[in-house]
Amino acid sequence: MKKVKCRLCSGHYVLRSGKFSVFAGCSNFPKCRSTLKIHELIFEYIKTYGINIYAWDRICWKCGKTTKVYSYFLNYDLCELDDYFESIGFIGLGDIETLDKLLSLKYNTICKKFSKTENKSYFANTCEHCKALQGRYYVVEDPHEIMDELFTGDMDKYLIENIPYEKMKIPLEEIKSLFELR
Ligand SMILES: [Zn+2]
Ligand SMILES: [Zn+2]
Repeated sequence: MKKVKCRLCSGHYVLRSGKFSVFAGCSNFPKCRSTLKIHELIFEYIKTYGINIYAWDRICWKCGKTTKVYSYFLNYDLCELDDYFESIGFIGLGDIETLDKLLSLKYNTICKKFSKTENKSYFANTCEHCKALQGRYYVVEDPHEIMDELFTGDMDKYLIENIPYEKMKIPLEEIKSLFELR
């Protein structure tokens, strides 16, 4: 299990259920009363551990050739802190624009595209052969090619890099807004 260090003492944060919501409190409570909101805990997690990027092969729906697709699965990374994060839904490519933009500069098949279904622009995978949009839903929220490993936590063979916080500088507000949409 991974741990996020307390800001005030040598303890670490554990999830606690409050009257209205889940929050993180110091393991040394009641000696230490430091608390974090969930998005603040995620922010501290990213600062400590960065974000894992995964790549795997899929068959392009348009040209039928094999193409590489990329995403992060922050919700799965966070399960190393607490199983609670199984319940927050997918956080992957298309969700954190600061990170998506950085990935699009490294991997040229990641492009900003307009989706008619969602009526907005976001970063998504495209086919390396025919450039067809591989979409967000089927790739990120239903990555059936790697679903087994995703649920058993055996994702190492798809891990291509870990991006440290200093390289991304995701603002706290952006992490907060992830939850306001859900
Ligand atoms: Zn503490
Ligand atoms: Zn294609």
